[in-house]
Amino acid sequence: MSKNRSLLSRILLKPVFSFFFWIFLSSIVPVFLETDFPLGNKPQYDQDRYLTSTSLYRLNSESVLSSGLVNSDIVIVTAHPDDESMFFTPSIIELAKRNYNNTLHLLCLSNGNYDGLGSVRQQEIVKAASFLQIDDVKVLDFEDDIHKKWNKNDISNTLTEELEHMDLKTHRIRLLTFDDRGVSGHPNHFSLFYGCKQFIKDYTSNHEGRYASVRMFALKSWSLPEKYSSFLWVNIQLIYKYLVQLGITRRIEILVNHFTNKNVIALPESLSGMKHSFIIYNNFNSWFVSLSTMTYAHYSQIVWFRWFWIFLSKYMNCNELVLVANV
Ligand SMILES: [Zn+2]
Repeated sequence: MSKNRSLLSRILLKPVFSFFFWIFLSSIVPVFLETDFPLGNKPQYDQDRYLTSTSLYRLNSESVLSSGLVNSDIVIVTAHPDDESMFFTPSIIELAKRNYNNTLHLLCLSNGNYDGLGSVRQQEIVKAASFLQIDDVKVLDFEDDIHKKWNKNDISNTLTEELEHMDLKTHRIRLLTFDDRGVSGHPNHFSLFYGCKQFIKDYTSNHEGRYASVRMFALKSWSLPEKYSSFLWVNIQLIYKYLVQLGITRRIEILVNHFTNKNVIALPESLSGMKHSFIIYNNFNSWFVSLSTMTYAHYSQIVWFRWFWIFLSKYMNCNELVLVANV
């Protein structure tokens, strides 16, 4: 009995502990972190200081601001209806927060008709976009096929055309798409990385100046253990983030260097001051939005094994974005 109980506690209690510890780290600790709202100027529409006085922005604002993901048209380029909900929700929810003053556009290149559910999935992505406060969503007619790569020039031309017809508010374009491994290795996913890169190349040589600025960010594909680490890995990252924020890692470094007689050399600031890779975390509040978008808006995709993804995947609680191009 006691053996069974200890096995039960090993299997059940540790993930449960990890989950509650994550709530503490992501949702309670930021309440006590002293940070001024970093946009500098007081947002006019926040007269009652509700937004600036809550912890709503404390977890990610430093990364969002230093990457220039504010006052922009954020264009999320995905392959299938549900990609935005399975993989990108921590970024989308964060960037849609109104003090960042972004306009979000979702461009999904296929209707996900591989199993014949195209029209249903097309309706589902509209519902998901409304959950996620995405301003406009468009589904295109590339073929959903797990065995096919899409042509990078076709993607680039499509992007050029779609951006021309898009209701852009700022003309500061921020493309957000998959990286060259596409998280799951789906060829439609990683084709988008090469297609967006081609768009940047074509834009630089033919259309530069049309927009105020264009940046491309890719969603990093993690290794298998990190990808399915649920709340475990993210807890370690959050602890490290807070230690850095409190200057504790720097003090430890100085102490170690003191005893090993090494000189402390300050790390040079990046030339542009822009981070090349950064993490956007969900907290408990935004995690619920991720959860409901995936499970309710994309109901047709909730087959039994999807629950493993929802509770084990680290993509449901954070994203790592890599700056690929800045023109
Ligand atoms: Zn997909």
